Amino acid sequence: MAEMGAFKTDNPLPAPAVTNNISEHTLDGEEWKHRAPYQVQSPDEFGPIKWRAQCKCRRVSYAVKRDKPLNAKFCHCRGCQVMHGAPFQWAAIFHKHDLSFTNGSAGLSFYSASHDSQKYDVPTKVSCSFCHTLIMDEGRNMCLVFPQLIQLEGSQDEQRKQRDAFRPTYVYVCRLPRLNMTVDLSSRCHIFYEQRMMDIPDGITKWSGMDENSQRMDDQGAVMES
Ligand SMILES: [Zn+2]
Ligand SMILES: [Zn+2]
Repeated sequence: MAEMGAFKTDNPLPAPAVTNNISEHTLDGEEWKHRAPYQVQSPDEFGPIKWRAQCKCRRVSYAVKRDKPLNAKFCHCRGCQVMHGAPFQWAAIFHKHDLSFTNGSAGLSFYSASHDSQKYDVPTKVSCSFCHTLIMDEGRNMCLVFPQLIQLEGSQDEQRKQRDAFRPTYVYVCRLPRLNMTVDLSSRCHIFYEQRMMDIPDGITKWSGMDENSQRMDDQGAVMES
């Protein structure tokens, strides 16, 4: 298990959660600056923008061209709690090509927990070099963006509705009565719920660890029968 060296304890922190089984991958030199989401693109090249996001100091901003994330998760692992200074991380998953940084790679800092390094090396945390707002977790193919940074418009109610596009959704359950089976088709969920700081009684699927290979838990953290 990867550890963040500065925080080594008897209870080592897991690496920030990633969406797929990303192997550690280093690009030679600075080739990555010319790839999504860092390559600078004209508006025509990128296409119509659906969402815009920015850090606290506004020096870093990016555009998103997809209506909704491919998936969304709340991660309760210790790594996310510490890195975000928050009870859990809310991550919305997009392809790298769905995102484009306005200033390319300028003004960004990186932290690879698996290497305890600030050198660009995915998977990595990406933050603003100036105000240190966390911008996203970058994997090899996907970016996990933090929806709190998305700029919303209108009244608070209208903003809540827009924000719903990024939320993990309620479980969609498909019943197959002939086979006496119930299939949960939703992968949007809470993960590492065993390490949670608080119960989240929202009825959404919860896993004790990374995914469905771990134990499924109810809102109070009791293991459910499979
Ligand atoms: Zn900033
Ligand atoms: Zn996590």
